[in-house]
Amino acid sequence: MSMMQTLISFLEEFWAHFRVVDAVDILLMSAIVYWGLIWSKETASRRVLIGVTLVLILYFLSRAFDMVLVSLVLQTGFAVLIIILVVIFQEDLRRMFERIAGVRWLGGFKQASPQLPFDVDALVEATFTLARAKTGALIVLEGSDPLDRHIDGGVKLGGHISQPLLFSIFDSSSPGHDGAVVVNQGRIDKFATHLPISKNHDMIAGRGTRHSAALGLAECSDAMAIVVSEERGVVSIAEADKLVTVDSTSELKEHVESFLIDRFPIEQSGGMKQMVYRNGWIKLLAVALTVGAWFALAYNPQTVRRTYVVPIEYRGQPASHVMVDPPPNEARVTLSGLDRNFRFLEPSSLKISIDLAESHAGSNAIAITDRQIRLPLNLALERIDPRIVRVDMRAKQALPPVDQAKPAGTPPIN
Ligand code: ATP
Ligand code: MG
Repeated sequence: MSMMQTLISFLEEFWAHFRVVDAVDILLMSAIVYWGLIWSKETASRRVLIGVTLVLILYFLSRAFDMVLVSLVLQTGFAVLIIILVVIFQEDLRRMFERIAGVRWLGGFKQASPQLPFDVDALVEATFTLARAKTGALIVLEGSDPLDRHIDGGVKLGGHISQPLLFSIFDSSSPGHDGAVVVNQGRIDKFATHLPISKNHDMIAGRGTRHSAALGLAECSDAMAIVVSEERGVVSIAEADKLVTVDSTSELKEHVESFLIDRFPIEQSGGMKQMVYRNGWIKLLAVALTVGAWFALAYNPQTVRRTYVVPIEYRGQPASHVMVDPPPNEARVTLSGLDRNFRFLEPSSLKISIDLAESHAGSNAIAITDRQIRLPLNLALERIDPRIVRVDMRAKQALPPVDQAKPAGTPPIN
């Protein structure tokens, strides 16, 4: 057979077996894979995910090569691992379930508001005014990653960003000027917080702890940090694993705005086109992974035959009859269908139920048909052995009529 013919017969077979449910199956799974990919891209949790994946690979290898000790320990460890993961990711899980529940789509979630109440100009102007005055400052713009697990201490605030507020906080005579301000959606959430310190000395290049703190937080989250150097009056920003100098207000404004657009995309504004193309590569990857997995795991157009030993039950036996010999109590039933149709079949739920209501004294030959077996949809009955069961009945010892049964001469009871 030529390549072309092979391809055509494959497509024909595929078309004959592909159902709407399969399309929905693939679509839903792609969405889940897509969310997973986005999540692992956005969060610093990537390292944890890689760790978990390595442990899983180790586990399957140990199973494959029959390493009893390792697989046993890992197996026991999984329950503990799941609890640990839930604790580590509780914030992310909460957000994920909120998204699934549509809280965000329905606008019940702050982030869904089309315009962030973010006074970027106030932030940018204040930053450069602080720089000119050589007042040290550290401002964190929160992205979509929760920051609580990276930030220590600080004082709660919750006020809108404004120049006077930023000047007051970073005024070196104020007790709260030390540390970082955390901005979430245009509000200063906290000030005087402590950030994790980066160890990337090449990138920090001789600058001090304020700059390492900005880079440290950017490395472990999707937040952006703006630093004003007290010594040199220079503004820098840290994002991901980079710390770069920013020379003008317009440049800083551009950075902040692209950060906001990226982390808090304005919903519905781009219409359908935006929805399709946003993260297009990741969507494509998610669909490709899912389709691959579907072909490997779910697609099997071959017809399968399986034989089960199925119990036979007898019911409705007339009270006037008794069985002579116990009839067969099981049969071998061969079913055929597609592999996937067998997947949800619970063999123990199969039974043959024979109704004896119509049976008579003597030998009853009862054929087993698909009426007596409740088969799942899409599975066909190929063979039953035995095909016919023989039930021998006889009438119970006929009892004499009631009045004759009374011994003669018994006085009637009055
Ligand atoms: P500058 O150029 O302003 O001097 P720098 O990078 O040289 O900055 P330092 O001189 O060490 O840094 O600045 C110390 C200040 O940085 C502290 O007073 C404090 O306000 C801030 N800072 C230091 N470490 C942290 C941290 N882990 N989290 C938040 N802020 C920090
Ligand atoms: Mg310094």
